[in-house]
Amino acid sequence: MIYCDFNATAPCRQPVIDAMLPFFREEFGNPASRHGFGLRALEAVEQAAAQVARRIGAEVDELVFTSGATESNNTVLQGAGRRGLLISRHEHASIYRPARSLGARLTDPAELEEALKGGARLVAFNLACHETGELLTGVPELARRIHAAGALFHLDATQAAGKIPVDVRELDCDFLSFSAHKLGGPKGVGALYIRSGVELPPLIDGGGQQRGRRSGTLNVPGIVGFGAAARLADPARFSSCARDRFEELLAASGLPFELIATDRPRLPGTSLVSLPGEDAGKLVDALYAAGVAASAGSACSGRGSEPSRLLLDLGYPALTAAGAVRFSFGAESSIAEAEEAAAAFIRIIQATNRKGVVDVNAYR
Ligand code: PMP
Repeated sequence: MIYCDFNATAPCRQPVIDAMLPFFREEFGNPASRHGFGLRALEAVEQAAAQVARRIGAEVDELVFTSGATESNNTVLQGAGRRGLLISRHEHASIYRPARSLGARLTDPAELEEALKGGARLVAFNLACHETGELLTGVPELARRIHAAGALFHLDATQAAGKIPVDVRELDCDFLSFSAHKLGGPKGVGALYIRSGVELPPLIDGGGQQRGRRSGTLNVPGIVGFGAAARLADPARFSSCARDRFEELLAASGLPFELIATDRPRLPGTSLVSLPGEDAGKLVDALYAAGVAASAGSACSGRGSEPSRLLLDLGYPALTAAGAVRFSFGAESSIAEAEEAAAAFIRIIQATNRKGVVDVNAYR
């Protein structure tokens, strides 16, 4: 199998698993306990916090561990976005859906100045779009405008962290969320950066863990794994070679693909390819039968064959949105894998005969 779905999740790296194992076994303590079991767990959590904080240039006490980026995003929106919330059209469902129920306004970062005039208290933007791979650019300048308007600035860096440099001081954001499983760590653990001095009420209240900012017994193995993954996920080692080779082969095939957002700064591993008129879900099934794991839109939007909401919001035609398949490569993806994935996709498209029908069984 060739795995081309790293934006959905990345495999846990072996050193990450090795680092976690003792905390399932002999070091099972609760970091809130006073005895040795607790103290050793606490020490491990503190070490992991330093590793995670370093990945984004934050101080350890600016970091809160959560159950993932979905919780981090909800914490910010529920805590600071109840009035005057602005979001972009590139947001993940974990921003988009709560934002809609909070009455948020949609804006284009290029039109931010105008949108801020409508009165905003919180602006939430996706630093790297999970579907198109598009990067938010000119972030320090956006931050300057947002702060000048008296608003707070949240960045969703879930797809960016580990793939491109992320530094909260350079980005000048007040909140930033990311997740362990996108950068080679375990699922179900994430982090929220809260700039020192910025108040944010907790989403989850209870025993007062994490200085009351997020209650609940800490997920010690998960946090330790997150720390190890954050240390290993070096953006300097993440090249765009596999993705670029993949796109080069598609372009050379002469088939009527649409490569989306290739004219803009993108994440190094993401390629969104549309075949207008085809059903992306069926293409993904055929790809899997041919040994390639890709996705239709984003994995988070479920298994249905609905056209991507995000692409429709961005103004792409419905046929383009419905036929968009996402290939996302990881730091460890090879050129040979990219070539095989491209060859499989080309064979499938040739076999559809552009009639919108894919025989999944033809490629086994
Ligand atoms: N934001 C973005 C941009 C994402 O891609 C994802 C995961 N697909 C999330 C948030 C949610 O992350 P998690 O799975 O950790 O809840």
